[in-house]
Amino acid sequence: MKIDHRKAAVIGCGNVGASIAFRFLQQGLFTRLVLLDANRDKAEGEAMDLRDGLPYGAAMEISAGDYDDLTDCALAVITAGTNQKPGETRLDLIGKNTEILRSVLKEVTARNFGGILLVVSNPVDVLTYAAWRLSGYPRERVMGSGTVLDTGRLKQLLGAELEVDSRNIHAFIIGEHGDSELAVWSEANVSGLDLEDFCRVRGQTLGAENRERLYREVRDSAYQIIERKGATYYGIAMAVGRIAEAIVKDERAVLPVSAVLDGQYGMNGLALSLPSIVGRKGLQEILEMPLSSGERAALSASAEQMREAIESLKL
Ligand code: NAD
Repeated sequence: MKIDHRKAAVIGCGNVGASIAFRFLQQGLFTRLVLLDANRDKAEGEAMDLRDGLPYGAAMEISAGDYDDLTDCALAVITAGTNQKPGETRLDLIGKNTEILRSVLKEVTARNFGGILLVVSNPVDVLTYAAWRLSGYPRERVMGSGTVLDTGRLKQLLGAELEVDSRNIHAFIIGEHGDSELAVWSEANVSGLDLEDFCRVRGQTLGAENRERLYREVRDSAYQIIERKGATYYGIAMAVGRIAEAIVKDERAVLPVSAVLDGQYGMNGLALSLPSIVGRKGLQEILEMPLSSGERAALSASAEQMREAIESLKL
């Protein structure tokens, strides 16, 4: 079936799925949006609520649907799954969410879905790899939201620290979207001006201690939010909206999505969040950015954790 480049599906309409749907409504990127959930009433309720906002958004068809509606979708966002409870790590969710992913993919692959799978459920890097293996789709059609959210968190904190617009900060969080992620300080810059030069020019300092504090704040942000409000969803909805925009508009934007590696950094058999070129065809290229030796070691350690988690799944 012909793909409708302006049709998307959100599978799982809990906190995260519903917030993503709301973001899509605000963006006006899609003309058709289908919501699926194991709890059909929930999907229907969310569709009804969203439709009430249509007069104040862009024209769009929003409905609760089933897997048959996926066949002409350009994008299917998977958020089905359980979320972290206070104190739980993302990796603690692995067993339950892999089973949910398996059941979702069984339905998706039974249809003639030709679009892009965007995994959001956690642990997102492990599930992105599982989605690739279980679906049998080419690498370019499977990606995860990765560290797009974490990178946004770093930009936001760094922007506040340096008193500059966070959109001018170019700095990446890479590796696992989780406890073993790392900040690539060696390549960080403010609109092309090396971070250290930027600080020097403005008479600011950003020493190792401050960098470590900012990194920890980013890494532990979800724990802090979950402790206070039980779940995170607005930040991830903005991040997924950004990825969807890059796909729909064929931007070839550089975003740190979760990607199934094919020899990058000498690694295979896992997915990691790395800056990649994202466009209408999906994941067009994973960029192997230069790293300091410390960053390289941290990336390897993160990859090792992902590998162990993947091996435990017996895919
Ligand atoms: P939630 O419990 O509010 O919603 C989950 C939804 O999935 C529920 O509506 C449930 O009915 C549905 N569901 C369960 N099994 C299903 C199935 N087989 N088919 C279809 N729907 C099914 O949880 P949430 O807060 O929305 O979180 C969803 C996922 O997103 C979690 O895994 C969470 O950890 C993850 N998350 C990821 C990021 C990220 O950056 N990648 C950020 C926040 C949350």
